[in-house]
Amino acid sequence: MCKKVLGKARKNNSTQPSFEQPIILSRDQHPVSRKHMSHNALKVLYRLNKGGYDAYLVGGGVRDILLGLTPKDFDIATNATPEQIKALFRNCRLIGRRFRLAHIVFGREIIEVATFRGHHDNDKDQKTSKQNEDGMLLRDNIYGSIEEDAERRDFTINALYYSAKDFKVYDFANGVADVYAKQIRLIGDPETRYREDPVRMLRAIRFSTKLGMEIHPDTKAPIVDLAPLMANIPPARLFEEFLKLFMSGKAVENFQLLREYNLFQYFFPAVDQQLNQQSQPYLADFIALAMKNTDYRVNNDQRVTPAFLFAAMLWYPMQEHIQRLNSETQLTPQDAFFGALSEIMSEQQRSIAIPKRFQAVMKDIWILQEKLARRDGKRAYKALEHPKFRAGYDFLLLRAEIEGATNKNPEEAAALQELAKWWGDFQACNIDTQQVMIKSITSNKSGPRRTTRKRRKPRVQHASKEA
Ligand code: ATP
Ligand code: MG
Repeated sequence: MCKKVLGKARKNNSTQPSFEQPIILSRDQHPVSRKHMSHNALKVLYRLNKGGYDAYLVGGGVRDILLGLTPKDFDIATNATPEQIKALFRNCRLIGRRFRLAHIVFGREIIEVATFRGHHDNDKDQKTSKQNEDGMLLRDNIYGSIEEDAERRDFTINALYYSAKDFKVYDFANGVADVYAKQIRLIGDPETRYREDPVRMLRAIRFSTKLGMEIHPDTKAPIVDLAPLMANIPPARLFEEFLKLFMSGKAVENFQLLREYNLFQYFFPAVDQQLNQQSQPYLADFIALAMKNTDYRVNNDQRVTPAFLFAAMLWYPMQEHIQRLNSETQLTPQDAFFGALSEIMSEQQRSIAIPKRFQAVMKDIWILQEKLARRDGKRAYKALEHPKFRAGYDFLLLRAEIEGATNKNPEEAAALQELAKWWGDFQACNIDTQQVMIKSITSNKSGPRRTTRKRRKPRVQHASKEA
């Protein structure tokens, strides 16, 4: 049916739209209906129209409905300025400096409303528009017409506008044809568009995996060469992109493409380096399995935390740091752990700004690996009561599966698998059996108990502190 609709649209209009003359699909020529839209998005469209403004559903909302998918969120474009939008909605928050937007908040649902963007070529006013020497837009707050807005959008499939006034879809860049041809194609000159905003390279990959589409050869061609522009992206924005790429059910595919296009290094430089050098035998399989599990959980509506994936990514790089500190210093194992932790986190933060709450969970997952290995006396129960026990245990299972599948160190691998099985059994059995399990661990402890700990290096006293 969709192809038929497209044929009709093409017959009714010229075959190639221009930004001044879009292809217009009337209500009977497209499947986009209000029943696919959230009530809140419709409310916003109606209120803007009633206030005398133009307003359209745009982007993923239209594209996904055309594809028979449920849109993740609903974005609206209007000729009302942010201040005019704010005056219409009590529940409106204005956000963003680089790109000023209105968020209309309905409990957990946020409808994003953007004022039509215009061209900024001749703009000399740095308050509204600004570019750096690489051509990257540091500010993009010049307002314009719907035609200009369409030209400033990233891909043809994202420049489709639906009006709740006449129920028509306005296609400015032949996006409907690309939707059905399953093509991700940048609007305008690809190199310029990537320079303006290098995140568009990530978006091309993300939409291709999410929608099962091909990246058009012209859109694909400059990516590898322009990948270094990613270094200009602020770590906070990269964190947001990390979530979209890795926590939406397509982590495995996105990871492969990011590596292929040399883009992964801007997310996790230490991991990328180790993958290239193949210096850690388990790393590639370990993160692949962690991503596969994350995808499975997301696609089956199970809870996921980005902290788990961060912990998995950085676990082996972290082990390398610990080994280095152990060989170069005389720190206690605990101090070496915390030293390595702070080194790896500060290194990582330069790429992705991982919020503190996730850093804390990563740390817990890693600390639990040590705690789970020591099960005697009351320790097993202490570990079990740890608030992040489940994540720590899942992490242990992952390690056991990967390390057990290789012959790198059979003795260590067997011990890890035994440990993972022990914890599985321990959780499943009653308290009497648990006591027996703990006893057998305590009595089986091989070798003499370690009574001496590695000594800390004596602290150097600073004269100024003594004074
Ligand atoms: P989804 O919400 O499913 O991830 P989307 O296409 O709606 O996909 P959003 O990030 O919600 O993506 O952005 C909404 C729209 O804003 C896009 O469809 C696109 O038209 C425009 N847009 C977003 N980011 C950019 C960008 N970096 N450059 C140009 N246009 C963009
Ligand atoms: Mg969207």
